[in-house]
Amino acid sequence: MQLDLRELIVNPELRLPFRTEMETDRLDFPSVKKYLTPPVAEGLFFNEAGILHMQGTITADMLCVCDRCGQEFESIKETDVDAILAEEESEDNLELFVLQGTEIDVQEVLATSFILDMETKFLCREDCKGLCARCGRNLNLGPCSCGKEIDPRFAVLEQLLDKS
Ligand SMILES: [Zn+2]
Ligand SMILES: [Zn+2]
Repeated sequence: MQLDLRELIVNPELRLPFRTEMETDRLDFPSVKKYLTPPVAEGLFFNEAGILHMQGTITADMLCVCDRCGQEFESIKETDVDAILAEEESEDNLELFVLQGTEIDVQEVLATSFILDMETKFLCREDCKGLCARCGRNLNLGPCSCGKEIDPRFAVLEQLLDKS
């Protein structure tokens, strides 16, 4: 979706609010099973001393899979969007997006902001205990009967001791 910002370029006093649903085809992450609703982005375009800004928030309601225990969980993620829209590229400003003439690809700005902010680890909760390495039980539901988790390096030794 190309948005023409000509109005804002010639009229620095103007503030342009935006609210849009994001296309999720580019927002593909192994631990995100699906988006429960299309992520919504809202905010404001404004012109500050000749520099165009796009600021706002993306809210995404996602069904995720825990990296540790494999359980599905819902996560509502908020991402700040703080982009500068310029006519030319700049190597030292990664938050900068280049206008095509007076137009900007809104979906591209939003998708980039969202991807850059995406967490690298998905946990159903901060202290997820994961699965028992021996019996596979979800340890968030309580301890299993294997007893204390054994370091795999000692497991061999334990097997030897069991035999003797
Ligand atoms: Zn978990
Ligand atoms: Zn176990």
